[in-house]
Amino acid sequence: MEETRNSPLWRYTTMKVGGEACQLYHPKHSEELVSLIERLKREGQPWNILGGGSNMLISSDGVDGAVIRMTKMTSITSPEPDVLEADAGTRLPHLAKYAASMGLSGLEFAVGIPGTVGGAVVMNAGAHGSCMANIFESALVMNAETGNVETWTAERLKFQYRHSEIDPARQVVASARFRLRPDEATKIQAKTQENEEYRWRTQPLGWPNLGSTFKNPEPTRSAGLLLDQSGAKELKEGHAAVSAVHANFVINLGGAHSDDILRLLQRMQATVQEKHNVRLHPEWKTLGRFSSLEREIWNGTH
Ligand SMILES: Cc1cc2nc3c(=O)[nH]c(=O)nc-3n(C[C@H](O)[C@H](O)[C@H](O)COP(=O)(O)OP(=O)(O)OC[C@H]3O[C@@H](n4cnc5c(N)ncnc54)[C@H](O)[C@@H]3O)c2cc1C
Repeated sequence: MEETRNSPLWRYTTMKVGGEACQLYHPKHSEELVSLIERLKREGQPWNILGGGSNMLISSDGVDGAVIRMTKMTSITSPEPDVLEADAGTRLPHLAKYAASMGLSGLEFAVGIPGTVGGAVVMNAGAHGSCMANIFESALVMNAETGNVETWTAERLKFQYRHSEIDPARQVVASARFRLRPDEATKIQAKTQENEEYRWRTQPLGWPNLGSTFKNPEPTRSAGLLLDQSGAKELKEGHAAVSAVHANFVINLGGAHSDDILRLLQRMQATVQEKHNVRLHPEWKTLGRFSSLEREIWNGTH
């Protein structure tokens, strides 16, 4: 297994922010993942799981402990005619296009979500009126608490809006199965392409970013709209700014420090609190050494 020391993590995130990890591991299949976690557990070493780094703010001051990057685990199989099983590191846009080419419908919503299967299951990623919970059948999970590789069904994952019961400090998704519906490949491909094009029109995809910064406070209340109405598009801190295209997106203008981003998030929250009396909670996860400002912003939502 590939293993590197003092690796800069910014290059493995879509925000292009993040300091060094003391040790970085890249398992290529589930057996390597399982034996790595058993070893780290034996040695009493904490670990952190990194998928596509598309929903994770990593501290520019670095990360203690080991980081396990999942993106080398990418195999896809079809154990039943309408079921796809994908390793945790498989990229969602790739899986969505693969399913479309096989004439399997259900993953069209996921084509513009630049994360991995594991990250998407953990976050119950969703878009265009659907989410992972709608197609999820089961996941193979390395449960460090029991030391076993277990099959977790939707019942055990208890999916909610951008949330599941997986705690990456204890449980690692090795692969997941999705039940899809057969349909005409050309029809599925057209919908997939339409969703992809919509992203390019409505999101600042030319800039490093982490997708939506804050969760919608209610299903019918958009964080982006609240931020826009509060004038957040004017906000900038150091080398980080709120996108002029979408007020719930923070962009790295080049060389942003994670502290720039934290200060910006704090101002975004404050402006919506002041204008609408609504407290916004970040959708992103954080990793690494941060100041107390990080705790204030996340305020018990980790
Ligand atoms: C341009 C852009 C658009 C986006 N659009 C959307 C959208 O429409 N809808 C949406 O929901 N999200 C969206 N996102 C956010 C992000 O892509 C999703 O949350 C995605 O599911 C995160 O996956 P990841 O592999 O990048 O996870 P990471 O960011 O690497 O990690 C996220 C969390 O999952 C954990 N994790 C990752 N893999 C595993 C694993 N195998 N086992 C256990 N824990 C794991 C990590 O430890 C972390 O806690 C967008 C992001 C960007 C940059």
